[in-house]
Amino acid sequence: MKPLIIANWKCNPTTLAQTKKLFNMVAEGIKDIKNVEVVICPPFSYLFNLKSSNSNIKLGAQDCFWAESSAHTGEVSPVMLKDLGCQYVILGHSERRKNFGETNEMINKKIKAALAAGLKPILCLSSAKRGATAKEEMGTQLKGAMAGIEKLDIKNIVFTYEPVWAISTTEGCVVATPENTAEGKIFIKEVISELFGEDAAKDTRIIYGGSVDQKNIEGFIKKAKMDGALVGAASLRPDDFIGAVKKIDSL
Ligand code: PEP
Repeated sequence: MKPLIIANWKCNPTTLAQTKKLFNMVAEGIKDIKNVEVVICPPFSYLFNLKSSNSNIKLGAQDCFWAESSAHTGEVSPVMLKDLGCQYVILGHSERRKNFGETNEMINKKIKAALAAGLKPILCLSSAKRGATAKEEMGTQLKGAMAGIEKLDIKNIVFTYEPVWAISTTEGCVVATPENTAEGKIFIKEVISELFGEDAAKDTRIIYGGSVDQKNIEGFIKKAKMDGALVGAASLRPDDFIGAVKKIDSL
């Protein structure tokens, strides 16, 4: 499987013109990339405009609701996202857990709905703490998110180890080392193995997120053997993001 590099643009850029400019710069910069799967997750409002681009960039959303259509003001369903050309959807990001009160039960419902609509969930597993407590918290997140999920679907989920302390916008952020990151991957694999068996864990895609840029990405992919990266702040800097993708393409 090719390494997966996902851009999480969060609530940026502020205008459609800026969005198109950024997207086109990235599309041009990575047009010859063969060995990396690249996904851009812009805000919902720009998905329609980026839908029909001829680039080798796949589209993802940053969240979705759990119902197909219903009386839920403000929500966007996975079926709508699929119709807009999305292939992926980020679920359970730490900012949504913290700022919007998303629980593991809600994230579990969203994962099921996304899978049913044919989207690949990018599940974020994050703890603000380090050490044993972090593992306990992430274990609870992962087990809660996987309740009632079919073993067959595990290969369609991207698991993201994204410690909150390593996210660039966290106050006092500490950039993770490849060793920290590898530990996160091993832990996620152990829990998947416990829940679904070793065979399921073997093929599971586990990526890393937290202050990834073109300078440090190689360590996470080559040394920590992560299956890809979720890139926040650096994905809004086209040169940095293109540089990161190119570096992995040439490994
Ligand atoms: C994120 O919050 O998903 C993220 C990866 O952010 P950053 O790269 O800015 O740490």
